[in-house]
Amino acid sequence: MSAVPDSFTTPGPAGTEDLAARFSREFGSVPAGIWQAPGRVNLIGEHTDYNEGFVLPFAIDRTARVAVGVRGDSTVRLLSTYGDQGVVTTSLDSLEPGSAKGWTKYPLGVMWALRQRGIDVPGIDLLLESSVPLGAGLSSSHAIECAVISALNDLTGAGLKAEEMVLATQLAENDFVGAPTGIMDQSASLRGSKGHAVFLDCRNQDVSLVPFETEPADLVMLVIDTKVSHSHADGGYASRRASCELGAEVLGVKALRDVQVGDLEEAAGLLDEVTFRRVRHVVTENDRVLQTVEYLAADGPASIGALLDASHVSMRDDFEISCPELDLAVDTSRANGAIGARMTGGGFGGAAIALTPVNVEQKVRDAVVKAFAGAGFTAPDIFTVTPAAGAMRIA
Ligand code: ADP
Ligand code: MG
Repeated sequence: MSAVPDSFTTPGPAGTEDLAARFSREFGSVPAGIWQAPGRVNLIGEHTDYNEGFVLPFAIDRTARVAVGVRGDSTVRLLSTYGDQGVVTTSLDSLEPGSAKGWTKYPLGVMWALRQRGIDVPGIDLLLESSVPLGAGLSSSHAIECAVISALNDLTGAGLKAEEMVLATQLAENDFVGAPTGIMDQSASLRGSKGHAVFLDCRNQDVSLVPFETEPADLVMLVIDTKVSHSHADGGYASRRASCELGAEVLGVKALRDVQVGDLEEAAGLLDEVTFRRVRHVVTENDRVLQTVEYLAADGPASIGALLDASHVSMRDDFEISCPELDLAVDTSRANGAIGARMTGGGFGGAAIALTPVNVEQKVRDAVVKAFAGAGFTAPDIFTVTPAAGAMRIA
């Protein structure tokens, strides 16, 4: 376990004029436009995506913004306001998987993926500024990719639909960046909508927007970034995927999505104990996503607390992807008045969410900070997020 070294929280991106002015200073020209794409929080539905199941993320009010200018040659120049890498210069002709380093693999991966799809991507100058914290489980990397693909879709006139951009960013992540990720993060970032969660069927990319507004219910969504990333996260992810594949094979289904809660009793007799618990998490989690969608539509966010809690217990005990920091964040939030809390994201570190009445927000924050200090853990970063708009052109 180690503290994530480059975790940061910025106060928010500069105005678009500042970004355009900085672009002009750095690159000596005026950008063709500015595009933004949000990070995301997964409200519920963890490790269900690669089982062709359901997820319910929402786009958040923290975004990556890119100012982009089209060049007349095949040169690509990239600069982020974060970190001190300076301008990275490369060429379209040298784009190949494994060739890019650091943050530039995200924009370059998108350019590569679009070219794989036969889209004539031009050389560009690009300035990135993001308010999505890095490595906190809010998908700062997909925010970059989605901002970049939105820009290139407009600038090339490719006219890709959101579903196609989702698949292109997945191709970039899987084959260029080398991360075996699904379609949830970019679906939330590209297809999110203010005041809504994105109910996504990972089998067919069907999306419906579910009203999800915390403010009218006098609630806030707290994100508690534990600032830890466990070294076994990659291996843990791979082994959970393998268990799910084994479970589906033994149960004779295409994916665990096809197993219902009522089938679990029979499944228990067919699977080894560990595989059964992995399967039970996925099957019950899919069911919880469906219930959350129903509850939100019928009674609003105040009604989903118990589902968030049950999701956490399932990940902690059946899927075994929590860690002491996440459990402490969840338990302390609940003990101090949050109506529901769970770890969010792939697990083994990252962030927890706590749906919290406004009047106990400070109490929960203070209690979590105190509990972390008492346990000798790194101080967490705690902030609120609201369901916000998906990717768009802003200038
Ligand atoms: P997450 O997507 O959950 O935040 P990842 O490890 O997938 O975590 O992505 C984090 C990476 O994204 C960073 O290591 C960095 O390469 C890149 N990144 C995110 N935001 C920025 C930024 N503002 N400037 C430069 N790179 C960034
Ligand atoms: Mg990421």
